Amino acid sequence: MHRCPHCGERTISNLAKWWSSSTAPTQCSACGNPSFVPASESNATFVLSAALLAGAIVAGLSSRSPALLAALSALVVVFYAWRWHRSTLVPTTMAEASASRTVAFILLGGIATYAVYRFVFGGGA
Ligand SMILES: [Zn+2]
Repeated sequence: MHRCPHCGERTISNLAKWWSSSTAPTQCSACGNPSFVPASESNATFVLSAALLAGAIVAGLSSRSPALLAALSALVVVFYAWRWHRSTLVPTTMAEASASRTVAFILLGGIATYAVYRFVFGGGA
């Protein structure tokens, strides 16, 4: 369990932490306040893990050793879990979470509108 950044109680599960974002924060069962792992941190973990996995696959394939590939891949999984375990939960409020949800909807809406526009009107090159 991870410490809630509001009250300091260990109430946040690994899964809840992993699943949290600025738009959908996890909620503390002791104080009820929301918190999340910032996207900058979760994205860095994802990119680093993907790069290491690519390296593991290249090393495994070039050495023609399935055992090496499996061992390196397992290390990447451990690294990924360790990064998530160490990542910091940032306190937020429900108002802030709903505000960033609104921004996300506007962005997605804008992208979807643009995609439909390109689809309907072509748009050449
Ligand atoms: Zn709390």
